[in-house]
Amino acid sequence: MPDRPSLPLPPPGARRRSLLQALGLALLPTQALPAHAHPASNDAWPRALHVPGGVALLDLGPAPERPVVRAGDVPVLVLGDALAWTAIVGIPLSARVGQAHVTLQATAGAPARRITYRVAAKQYREQRLSVAPRTVDLAPEDLARHERERAHQQQVMATFSTPLPERLTMIQPVPGRRSSSFGLRRVFNGQARNPHSGMDIAAATGTPIVAPLAGRVIDVGDYFFNGGTVWLDHGGGLLSMYCHLSGVDCRPGDSLQTGDAFCRVGATGRVTGPHLHWGVMLNRTMVDPALFLPA
Ligand code: ZN
Repeated sequence: MPDRPSLPLPPPGARRRSLLQALGLALLPTQALPAHAHPASNDAWPRALHVPGGVALLDLGPAPERPVVRAGDVPVLVLGDALAWTAIVGIPLSARVGQAHVTLQATAGAPARRITYRVAAKQYREQRLSVAPRTVDLAPEDLARHERERAHQQQVMATFSTPLPERLTMIQPVPGRRSSSFGLRRVFNGQARNPHSGMDIAAATGTPIVAPLAGRVIDVGDYFFNGGTVWLDHGGGLLSMYCHLSGVDCRPGDSLQTGDAFCRVGATGRVTGPHLHWGVMLNRTMVDPALFLPA
């Protein structure tokens, strides 16, 4: 974790006990200490990568109650316990390199303070494509459809539910070659488009896709660009999205366990061939799904 100096720490038990005493939360000697790992070694969380499109893990220190953290006005996932809270912050692909911040409110009504962190540079590749003009300049009816769909998707993306997830790490939702195209800057016929904000996994049409983490289905649709699409809510603003599907075997409201099949790979929407486009979102920000998979 980049923000933490690598000083030798006392044994975790001793450190927790001294912190608890400092907080006036002393444990009885026989009481078992909570098993939560230190943020720097918590393998249930994504890998920290403080770059545009990455995930920041910000140590918030001890507090009796879970602090409320926001990025702008968007709630941020905070996990941990009274001894060490950590904010798990999605960094937008559009973030500027340099200092960034979230705001922290210790308790309701308390003044908010800034928690700053540094966003380092990451040079994503650029792809320049020449395509048929109508695929860049949408027909008016297609544009109207896309605008409607975008408004709906923004509602879906604003989901922030409880209970909060305990684990954030995921399994790959479909076997296949993963492209490393997250963040790819795309220029079609000289016009800059949104960067690629997910992971593409090559697989044959019909291949079952499984939930990479337990979650609830919150949206099923057929969209102009994304084709057959499902959104899963994992709690606390952690969402995931599956696009270009050939089939959907779930309905909004369904609960899924890790590994449950719920949809199938396809080539629907604006694509050139079958693959899964997989997106992972934290605080309404698309982040690199690779950070949630085993290294
Ligand atoms: Zn894609």
